[in-house]
Formats: sequence, C-alpha cells, structure tokens
Amino acid sequence: MGGSSSINSMSYIRGNRADYDGWAALGNPGWSYEEVLPFFKKSERNLDYGGMDRTYHGADGELSISRYPYIDDPAIMLTEAFNEGGLPLVDYNGAQQVGTNQAQSTVENGMRVSTNNAFIQPIRYRRKNLTVKPNSEVIKILIDEDKNAYGVQFIRNGKIYKAHARKEVIISAGSLNSPKLLMLSGIGPSDHLHNLHIDLVQDLAVGENLHDHPTFNGYVIALSNRTATLASQRQILGTVQAFKYDEIKNGPLSANGPVNSISFLKSEPHLKEPDVKFQMDITIWEEFVKEPTIADSIPILPNAFYNGIIPRTENLVPKSRGKLLLNSSNPYGNPRVHANYFGDLEDLLPLVRGARFLLSLENTHAFRSRGAYFVRQSLDACKHLKWGSDDYTICVAQSYTSSTYHPVGTCKMGPETDRKAVVDPRLRVYGINGLRVIDASIMPIIPRGNTNAPTIMIAEKGAAFVLEDWHRSFL
Ligand SMILES: Cc1cc2nc3c(=O)[nH]c(=O)nc-3n(C[C@H](O)[C@H](O)[C@H](O)COP(=O)(O)OP(=O)(O)OC[C@H]3O[C@@H](n4cnc5c(N)ncnc54)[C@H](O)[C@@H]3O)c2cc1C
Repeated sequence: MGGSSSINSMSYIRGNRADYDGWAALGNPGWSYEEVLPFFKKSERNLDYGGMDRTYHGADGELSISRYPYIDDPAIMLTEAFNEGGLPLVDYNGAQQVGTNQAQSTVENGMRVSTNNAFIQPIRYRRKNLTVKPNSEVIKILIDEDKNAYGVQFIRNGKIYKAHARKEVIISAGSLNSPKLLMLSGIGPSDHLHNLHIDLVQDLAVGENLHDHPTFNGYVIALSNRTATLASQRQILGTVQAFKYDEIKNGPLSANGPVNSISFLKSEPHLKEPDVKFQMDITIWEEFVKEPTIADSIPILPNAFYNGIIPRTENLVPKSRGKLLLNSSNPYGNPRVHANYFGDLEDLLPLVRGARFLLSLENTHAFRSRGAYFVRQSLDACKHLKWGSDDYTICVAQSYTSSTYHPVGTCKMGPETDRKAVVDPRLRVYGINGLRVIDASIMPIIPRGNTNAPTIMIAEKGAAFVLEDWHRSFL
C-alpha cells in the first residue's frame, strides 16, 4: 500500500516552473505551472506553514510535509558548504529553485507519511464507495469489442477474479507496471504485441519515452571523528537515541542523515534553470577504501549513523530515452527494461560540471573546519584515469551508472498529433473508452525535481478530471 512512497527517501521536491510550462507547451492544456500549483497545494499540509511563502504552500491537505525534527552536523556541514560554494539558501519548492537547504519531506513528527498513510488510511473502512483488496495483482484490463474498458482481471491467493467497472477503469501501477499491464491487455506497439501473440486492441507507443535522472555514486566524503555519527548497533539500541525516538520522536532516528541536504545547481551560466541536483547517501568510508566498487552497496545502519557520505550528482534534464517491453505474454514475469542511460552522450555533461563543483567544496570553511575531505580512492573500472579529472568522472558515470529511482514517461501524456502519446491531457488512453492512467508514467518529460510530489499532483488532477466527467452521476 502506498507504492514507492512507502519506501522512498521522503524528499518532497516538485521541480521547476519551466517543467510544467514545458508540458503545457507540448500541447497539454491545463498543465502549466500556474494551473498545476493549486493541485500541489491542495494535498499539502505544510507543518512549517507559518514560515513558508503561502503563494507556494498549502496547509489544509492530507499530505503532511515538514522538515525533520533533528538535523545532524554532517547535514548542516553540507548545506553550509553548498552555500559557501555560491548556492543561496532557498525554498526550492517556492519562487527560486537554484540553491540549497535542508529537505522538505513527507514526514510528520519524525515519521514517514506515505500516500497510504495520508490518503487511504483515514477513509478506509469509512467510505462505502472504497474497497481495498490487498495482495491482489491485476493481470489484465477487460476491454470489449467496441473498445470499452469494463473491468480488470486480478489474482488473489492463487485464484483469478474479475472486478467490473460501472464508469471507468483507472490504472495506477507505476511507470514499469502500468505499461506492462496495458501491453498485456493488447494496448501497445503492434509489432511487439504481434511477436508475443497478444491480440492487438490499440496500437500505441506504450513503454517508450522511458527516462529517469541518471546519476552515479563514485565520490565519497570522509568525515572526521568529530562529525561522523557512526555508532554500533548496540550503542544505538541501548542508548538515549532509541529512547528519544520512541518517546519524543526526535533524535537521529527521527531524521534522514545527510539526505537532509538538497541542492540545485545551474552548471553553466547561460542556463535559466538548474540542470544538476545533489542528494546524499551514506556509507562507511573505510569499507569503501577496502573494496572500491560501488559505494552504496556497503551494508549500513539506518541513515542516521555513518562516517562517509556519497554525494549523488543527478542530471535533471536527461535527453536519452529508453523503453520498456514485455518478456512474454505471461503476466507474472518482469518486463524488459532498457534504461538507455547516456544513449545521448550529452547527458554526461551536467554530471561532469556538477562533479567539478562538488569537488571544489572540499576547500570550503564548512569542510575544512570539520576535517571532511574526499577520499582519493579510484574505482576499479576507472583506476587508469586521474582521480577527480573530467575523464574519471565520465568513466565512473558510465561504469557505475545508477538510477535515482525516478522512472517516468512510459504512458506519455500528449496531444493526438504526438505519435508517442498514450494518454490525452485528461489522462484517457487514446482509442479506448473508460480507461485512464494516473501515475508517474504519464509525465511527458521528467521534472527537475523528484517524482513523488509531481505524481501526487497528477493524482489530484486526475481526481478532478474524474469528478468533472462524472459529476452528474455522483449527485
Ligand atoms: C528507493 C526509492 C527512493 C525514492 N526516493 C524518492 C524521494 O525521496 N522523493 C521523491 O519524490 N521520489 C522518490 N522516489 C520516487 C517516487 O517514490 C515515485 O516516483 C512515486 O512513488 C511513483 O508513484 P506511482 O504511483 O507512479 O508508482 P508506484 O509508487 O510504483 O505505485 C504503484 C503501485 O501499484 C502497485 N501495482 C503494480 N502493479 C500492480 C498490479 N499488476 N496489480 C495491482 N497493483 C499493482 C504497486 O504495488 C504499487 O503499490 C523514490 C523511489 C524509490 C523506489
């Protein structure tokens, strides 16, 4: 329940005004920044509202957003360093995105707020028109010969059931599973479905336009003992920290370590909007030195306890597009994901410029005064290159490419003239009656932020379309 919002890093980041103006300019009326802002605010219950600009923030929605109650010293160090490096302190969900600050997160009282906690639990068992069937996997959308979607087929405890829709079917299975489900139901590229012997219902570019924010995790910051928060499991469990969390929902366990530090950079002076984001993971730097492979594969404690930081440099404006295909017509298998990161080599450039900026932070007062530094340890695949050089960064980005877990675009929203569009600007699947897709897969272009907040905004817009379209019959 809650999908990725139940396991994600909780950062609440909307992206940039230009992203949504860009969606509208592609032929999607209703999706400009001015038009989507009310839908971001609608679900937002900003617990720091008093201190926020009300033009951009809401206080009355279902989804709690707040800063963590506890911020550790490494997170403060990072914000200070980015600030010294030239990034102003900003509300990146407000008037200006370029800058740095502590995270706004889907958090209340130091605890995660998933979409399940926020939207479903408060009404579950209370509304007659909501039934939740847990542990059920939809395997097909039911579509009649006049192309009306009239229900879904799903499997639960090994048995197959059908659920019938009186008005319409809404698919919200995410960027990997929504296209899979559409294709299994005969909606997708005709040649691909033909090869898998799936009867074609509607020929659409389902699964194309897959993209994400490509990133890499090859540089590691070592913290001195003064700043490191590393503790043994015993220390954590037996001490005041566990007690503090349990009793007052404060202390390191109520926070997210260096993930708290969020920064946006325009990596070239002529750019109008940011093209690079920095977000952090944790590590134990001695382990990385012992085995210099992929730094974030080192098993670690909760984000609160660490002595090394992996700054992820993310490309916010990827040009490469991948695609998602089915492996077979068997609904229980995984789809084939061709990420195609750096298919367009220009996608490396923001990462190179971002890494240069990142490495320069070693000279800041924030780093020096705390004895923090970058570990000069080359990764195996790139050790023939000079550590820290542009060539080294490129090698690391290509050899240790990583997803930011932001796949989008596989059921692209667009006007009828767009050959790649799967849904129209009211999120209805082209050529099928009574079928909508409402999730991250409809994004035509990934925003310059994270994807949870935009997906929730898309859900608010989708809910408004449903209400508008069926208003009379709801009365
Ligand atoms: C590890 C990780 C960290 C992330 N960190 C952040 C972050 O800090 N901030 C941020 O903004 N974004 C983050 N994201 C991304 C963000 O959480 C997602 O983009 C967003 O949740 C996508 O929402 P969605 O509804 O499109 O899909 P999902 O969240 O994937 O939800 C799809 C739901 O559909 C269900 N489902 C799928 N197939 C079927 C089926 N056949 N039948 C029935 N149910 C099905 C799934 O179980 C799931 O519950 C992160 C993601 C991950 C994985």
